[in-house]
Amino acid sequence: MSEKKYKELSITDDLTRLYNSRYFYSKLKEEINRSVRYQHPLSLLLIDIDDFKILNDRYGHLEGDKVLTMTGKVIKDCLRRTDSAYRYGGEEFTVILPGTGFKAAVNAAERIRKQIGTQEFSTSTNESVNITVSVGACQFEPGEEMKAFVKKADNAMYVAKQDGKNRVSPS
Ligand code: GH3
Ligand code: MG
Ligand code: MG
Repeated sequence: MSEKKYKELSITDDLTRLYNSRYFYSKLKEEINRSVRYQHPLSLLLIDIDDFKILNDRYGHLEGDKVLTMTGKVIKDCLRRTDSAYRYGGEEFTVILPGTGFKAAVNAAERIRKQIGTQEFSTSTNESVNITVSVGACQFEPGEEMKAFVKKADNAMYVAKQDGKNRVSPS
């Protein structure tokens, strides 16, 4: 295997072909440094599919996998070239938005939420499946630790769940 191919595999999530969580942390660190050095804004989204367990139970794990892959694609298609999308964990995704302030990040989150919500995912048996997502959106604050920044997005996402899901919660 070529070195380039190896590097590519090591940063890619097998299922969705988005970047993986390991690369998320490495990239986020890089973007935080850049944001501090050039005093550019930096924002982060944490996207969690609502009631994904129900979808898995109803259609099976394989169909669930397909929905994850398609969701990843929808997220990617919503982004600008400088943004990047990651599979953060099971049914959770993150998006790093360099040069993006709070308001624009919330707008991007809304765009993604709406796009996913209106998408008709079709199963192998040609049933149409709809999903929704809860999104936490936040902007990096100078001096903040990377972990605290991620936690802030995670907490915001949790608030979106508490408030009834299928929404963007800013923090
Ligand atoms: P909530 O709205 O609160 O987020 O509910 P939820 O069901 O989405 O969340 P919960 O954390 O209870 O369940 C996550 C589910 O995601 C359970 C797990 O089996 C499923 N999951 C995680 N990773 C994968 C995967 O790679 N493939 C499939 N098909 N399912 C996965
Ligand atoms: Mg989850
Ligand atoms: Mg979920």
